[in-house]
Amino acid sequence: MPAHMIDGESLAAELRERVERETAELEASGVIPGLATVLVGDDYASEAYERRVKRLAEELGCRYVSERLPADAEEAEALAVVGKLNADPRVSGILILRPLPRQVNEGHVYRTLDPLKDIEAIHPDNAGLLALGQPRFVPSTPSSMFWMLDRYVESTGRDPKTFYNGLDLVLVGRSNNVGKPALWLGLARNATVISAHHYTAQAGRLEQHTREADILVVAAGVPRLVTGEMVKPGAIVIDVGINPLKDEATGKVRMVGDVDTESVAEVAEAVSPVPGGVGPITDVTLLANTVLAAKLQRGDAAVRGFSL
Ligand code: NAD
Repeated sequence: MPAHMIDGESLAAELRERVERETAELEASGVIPGLATVLVGDDYASEAYERRVKRLAEELGCRYVSERLPADAEEAEALAVVGKLNADPRVSGILILRPLPRQVNEGHVYRTLDPLKDIEAIHPDNAGLLALGQPRFVPSTPSSMFWMLDRYVESTGRDPKTFYNGLDLVLVGRSNNVGKPALWLGLARNATVISAHHYTAQAGRLEQHTREADILVVAAGVPRLVTGEMVKPGAIVIDVGINPLKDEATGKVRMVGDVDTESVAEVAEAVSPVPGGVGPITDVTLLANTVLAAKLQRGDAAVRGFSL
């Protein structure tokens, strides 16, 4: 039987209602949540992401501020932009778009962020809190992956509070923004978490691990890296990859995932597609984190993230 296709658009719509409600409540108390993005250079995927979150912020009634620097900007200019946004009371949350050009050190930029505006939990304070299982913010992509997984599990009549206990969760990709924070979220669900990455593939051992996975999450940025024969029958597969692929004949660019959906769907229990999978949920979660940041800055010490 072909795998269930997990519908990210409808899950995003559910979450969106929640964010809309919370934004309206905040606005009634005189607070308008504000999201700022910082883009250095002109990366195609980052520009597309910037356009999407701008539109979404405006639709949800949030403020949106775009800061752009040229690809040859000095690190000091990037740090100055972050400093300006830290000090701007209209900005609740700041998203630094990746990749940053070589001359701008990511770590220096992240450490400059105001931890209360660091909605992607990339400042060492927030990354540390997440690792300790006491998150202030949960970064939008890992949060969305698990929101999707939990909701899918629930929809099949299983309890997400116990479902992961002892299961093999294999994460392909170990970036600071996606793969590493996802490790903590998997451990928090009592899964047996395995991190596979570039060197795993180079050692010829990627398939050995993916074939063991009860739950397989792929965030490597390699188009169609994982195919059906690399997946255990009955696994749940989440495709995080978003890779622009240009059709040479038409010149049109379309997005493909890190998973070969067609062949994986022949063996898996469920698979998330690209587009229409994790991506739309991530966009909304980013705004959810912006709302959370606005509440934290207002002094609501007891508020918690959306999906831990
Ligand atoms: P990244 O380039 O920072 O990290 C890629 C990771 O994959 C690294 O840890 C690397 O070791 C690993 N890797 C590379 N080649 C590999 C291979 N052949 N086998 C196994 N592992 C390999 O990328 P990122 O920011 O983590 O993003 C990963 C993918 O997810 C990209 O396609 C990106 O566009 C996408 N993404 C999607 C969302 C979303 O909301 N859906 C959000 C962020 C990123």
